[in-house]
Amino acid sequence: MTSTSEVLDDLEDRLFIGGRWRESASGTRFDVVDPATGDAIAHVADATPADGIAALDAAVAAAESWAATTPRVRGEILRRAFDLVQTQFEELALLMTLEMGKPLAESRSEVTYGGEFLRWFSEEAVRINGRYGTNPEGTGRMIVSYRPVGPCYLITPWNFPLAMATRKIAPALAAGCTVVLKPAELTPLTTLALAGILQEAGLPDGVVNVVTTTDAAGVSGPIIRDPRLRKLSFTGSTPVGKQLIRQAADSVLRVSMELGGNAPFLVFEDADLDLAIDGAMLAKFRNIGQACTAANRFLVHESVAEEFAERVTARVRELHMGRGTEHGVTIGPLIDDRAVTKAQDLVDDAVMRRAALRVGGTSAPGPGTFFEPTVLVGVATGSRILEEEIFGPVLAIVPFADEADAVRLANATEFGLVSYVFTQDPARGQRMIDRLETGMMGLNVGAISNAAAPFGGVKQSGMGREGGVEGIHEYLSVKYTLTPDPYAKR
Ligand code: ADP
Repeated sequence: MTSTSEVLDDLEDRLFIGGRWRESASGTRFDVVDPATGDAIAHVADATPADGIAALDAAVAAAESWAATTPRVRGEILRRAFDLVQTQFEELALLMTLEMGKPLAESRSEVTYGGEFLRWFSEEAVRINGRYGTNPEGTGRMIVSYRPVGPCYLITPWNFPLAMATRKIAPALAAGCTVVLKPAELTPLTTLALAGILQEAGLPDGVVNVVTTTDAAGVSGPIIRDPRLRKLSFTGSTPVGKQLIRQAADSVLRVSMELGGNAPFLVFEDADLDLAIDGAMLAKFRNIGQACTAANRFLVHESVAEEFAERVTARVRELHMGRGTEHGVTIGPLIDDRAVTKAQDLVDDAVMRRAALRVGGTSAPGPGTFFEPTVLVGVATGSRILEEEIFGPVLAIVPFADEADAVRLANATEFGLVSYVFTQDPARGQRMIDRLETGMMGLNVGAISNAAAPFGGVKQSGMGREGGVEGIHEYLSVKYTLTPDPYAKR
């Protein structure tokens, strides 16, 4: 087993700017805390706004030469980074469990998933194809080509420390863009480790720069206002996303936004309940419920609602809460006290409105920020838990009467990231694809993420797509050229 100190060595106190590991301009640093124990496990450099601009300077300086590298060279660097992620598989998994809390088995899945973006975009780098054609009038030839958009600023959240970084860095690099990445202050270590991997893979200086900071707004503001920046990609909460879109408006900066969700999980009367319950456990309890794709509202046909509730409650009783590094643990801590308070408030509000608690319902005594896996049934319309993103291990069940009722309830939210549908009727499944207002859907599955798929939402869940053949286009701009018909008489 990899030791903790081995993993944490080399990551402390340093920003990654212009290919160099250096302290912040102020020399200050901040603690990274293990949410399972409340103990500080490392210190990292606390970047100032001047450090942020230094990182942008480095990204701008590297932009032209990186854009001029061949697609094959860019692809091969990404592929080497993918291979290095496999070599450092266990170290990365342990690092994520330590700084974020998820069980080691889930961290390992994230290393697989997160690493895959490096491989996928190493393959996409050589497939940036344009178009050539004759205009309808026959008077000219139309050429459509793609150019890297330019220096990018990437802001990532704490819940998937590796995958959120690779999902942005890999397509940006494949497209020929340079980047400044600001990881969440709660989980900066995995991103720093990834920067080390990219450097080892042969990435030229300045192509990727990492600034860790407790002053997210203070460091981000000047970068976003800088006219040299061409693109902002953000994953995080909807309120912060809206604030960033407003800031980006001033310079008409291109944005990609992966924001909050409020995923409905529909179980129809014709569903295979074994499949639905397996799907529910994944969609709800993966990452301790801390995923924008987590099922937030379980809408279950009234004829199967009680059986579903009983069977899912039995499965929840089998979950084992504890420190993610311990063998057999399936539920780790929530990220911090704020998350525990929020889960408690949402459960209390639902119970006050007459929901029944089948299991769980409270935080666990410290150390660590744990909340018991919980099942609520008969959750009433108007309960906060149906309107807000729970981001915790709380499964809330609402019965519905018929398909029209299910669709109405599912779409009654300003969010539109993902929906899950369990039915054995293919025609009904297809009607749900048409009628549910979400960017993604799991049809008889409880987890949908894949590097080859376009991840993203509609409505207030955001704009843009990450992964798939679509992902690289977030970092490319379209160039249209017209040239005269070469056969025209002059
Ligand atoms: P959460 O509530 O899940 O932590 P946030 O949206 O607050 O989600 O955080 C996601 C990312 O956005 C983090 O990297 C965080 O530091 C960053 N962030 C938060 N506020 C701002 C801001 N005003 N400007 C730029 N980045 C921010």
